[in-house]
Amino acid sequence: MHRLAGDMAKSPALFLDRDGNLIEDHHHTCQVDQVSLISGVKPALNACLSAGYKLFILTNQSGINRGIFTWEQYHACNQRMLELLDLPAPGILEIKAAPEKPDEPSLYRKPSPRFILEMIEQHELDATRCWMVGDRITDWDAGLNAGIKSCAVRSGAGRPEDFIYAEKMKFTIRQDFPDFVRQDLGLNWNK
Ligand SMILES: [Mg+2]
Repeated sequence: MHRLAGDMAKSPALFLDRDGNLIEDHHHTCQVDQVSLISGVKPALNACLSAGYKLFILTNQSGINRGIFTWEQYHACNQRMLELLDLPAPGILEIKAAPEKPDEPSLYRKPSPRFILEMIEQHELDATRCWMVGDRITDWDAGLNAGIKSCAVRSGAGRPEDFIYAEKMKFTIRQDFPDFVRQDLGLNWNK
């Protein structure tokens, strides 16, 4: 078994921010009826699964520790999102939420790379074919800190100065997640 075959056996993967990337950002989305998919995300994720990408969601949810909403509300919103996505198996492999506020100690709150590094190890991912995709600096820096590629999407809460930072850091910048999938993963699908 030569080296290349071993590397090819490892899977590529996407680490996805939730709010402002997969679903519309309502600043602390916590009501089930607020959950709506960003246009084109469902077929884009289907194309990723067909191409062999493993999918993970990594989301900062400080609204939980701020007392704005509960874990139950958070889980209900995820459930609604998964119903709307209706992805074929294996779908999204894991969803990790960090409930801490920015000033609280946290193992997993982005820009921590910990979840990404754990998944690379546990799922034998090919880190050279992994991306972190999201709308905020904390997303992009999580990818950077984990040593994988980062894509900044304009579909969420990113401010103009954030994208100046993204340019400076040479992160990929795209309109939204479907645009990333087409341009950077080279995948296509019919409407
Ligand atoms: Mg976000």
